[in-house]
Amino acid sequence: MTTDPDLPGLHIGGVPREGGGTEHYEVRDPATGRVVSSRPEADVRDVDDAVRAAHTSFADWSRTTPAERSTLLFRWAAELDTVAAELADIETLQAGKPIRLSSGFDVPGSIDNVAFFAGAARNLEGKSSAEYSPDHTSSIRREPIGVIGSIAPWNYPLQMAVWKILPAVAAGNTVVLKPAEITPLTSLMLADAATRAGIPAGVVNVITGSGASTGASLVRHPDVRMVSFTGSTPVGTQIAAAAAGKRLHLELGGKAPFVVFDDADLDAAINGAVAAALINTGQDCTAATRAYVQRSRYDEFVAGVAALMDTVILGALGAPATDQGPLVSRRQQQHVAGFVERARADGARVVRGGAIPGGELAEGYYYEPTLIVDADQRSEIVQQEVFGPVLVVLPFDDDAEAIALANDTPYGLAASAWTRDVYRAQTAAREIAAGCVWINDHIPIISEMPHGGYKASGYGKDMSTYSFEEYTVVKHVMSDITGIARKDWHRTVFGR
Ligand code: NAP
Ligand code: MG
Repeated sequence: MTTDPDLPGLHIGGVPREGGGTEHYEVRDPATGRVVSSRPEADVRDVDDAVRAAHTSFADWSRTTPAERSTLLFRWAAELDTVAAELADIETLQAGKPIRLSSGFDVPGSIDNVAFFAGAARNLEGKSSAEYSPDHTSSIRREPIGVIGSIAPWNYPLQMAVWKILPAVAAGNTVVLKPAEITPLTSLMLADAATRAGIPAGVVNVITGSGASTGASLVRHPDVRMVSFTGSTPVGTQIAAAAAGKRLHLELGGKAPFVVFDDADLDAAINGAVAAALINTGQDCTAATRAYVQRSRYDEFVAGVAALMDTVILGALGAPATDQGPLVSRRQQQHVAGFVERARADGARVVRGGAIPGGELAEGYYYEPTLIVDADQRSEIVQQEVFGPVLVVLPFDDDAEAIALANDTPYGLAASAWTRDVYRAQTAAREIAAGCVWINDHIPIISEMPHGGYKASGYGKDMSTYSFEEYTVVKHVMSDITGIARKDWHRTVFGR
């Protein structure tokens, strides 16, 4: 497996360079705890240089034709294709993903998203021109905003960087991205590929460093016109305050319910729940976290999930047999363990897992697949985001109760309903307050369709042409078509 791609920590104005900060960021292999890369962080001057480079390039980039942008973005996708295997290796190394996940999901999904926006760049449009007053023709211009300051989390580093950058630049904006400090490597490779593809210098910039210093300076920078953030709800709330007066796009935390009605295909629901709870070691904002199962099928469901969790293999990331990798950091491992300990103390019962594995896995940040029952709906383990391989199962009696429980957290990012009954499926789709409701599945995403939250999960959309609503402003152009000097409406000022 490849190690550190050996890129300097910043990419500004099309040129890789080292940060000027005195602090160093550290990338560790989550499977072993070994440091694989450590470089100086960006300092305030680097942040300013990156914003200046983006600001300068905006003048030309915003005036390119959609066809010109499209051609360059397709070249970018092709450049990424040539380094797909290396991207997967580095994603595995920095984020602790089994190679099957990074090479089968993260990397191809990211490249597809670049290609999607290459095509979508040519489909930006406003309303057609028309006479909404007899004396004027009105038309709509859809314009880019300027420099976008983007901040991304560590759970899907490459994918999140792509989701943030692509709709912005396809619409004619320029971007300064700050990836999470612990997972910057594939974002730097992404920027490097942009330069090789011929994307003009300064359109895509990457700066690395901690949220509290580098991220906060980016958010506050006066030439950053919009802040686009994906991460936790508490940090998003802080950023919204710091970015007051700027345009904002917030993709925040989730606590997705997984509702199993009594007529569901239980085998499908059990497979679906384990896969959707454990994908990316549960570090997925849409992961299945709370399964509500109709009481007559509850015991069968719990037994099925427990048995399936027993087959999940934790292990080395390069091994093809490995199903579940470690959590991203020691901190995240302690965070997950703390949640499970408090749930136990609260009276919940841990049916499977609930422990940090020893032996060969002890040096990494592993955590066992965990199944919890008998938790109270109001308890922390049901209400708050754990972001680990932990599924809580609770029973319900009737459909109305299931929907009420599904909606009973502050979050609203994603949900699923499992049933063979079309009326139940449609009711769940309508009544659950979430940005995505799956029917008889949970997790799949697709570049053509939007992703984004309700409630404390944020607002605005990633992916799909809906994301252009975030990254463009709509301008009304109103032209007089009478040629008359003393217009009818002037009577309100000039009198008779
Ligand atoms: P996080 O702690 O909120 O951090 C996200 C990013 O914000 C990181 O780059 C972080 O930098 C930076 N940051 C922290 N404080 C900041 C500040 N004061 N000013 C500016 N930037 C700041 O989230 P995380 O732990 O990385 O990721 C997990 C969270 O992301 C979960 O809540 C998950 O649900 C959410 N998420 C949501 C979506 C979605 O689409 N809704 C997708 C993926 C993940 P450093 O970490 O480098 O300090
Ligand atoms: Mg964090």
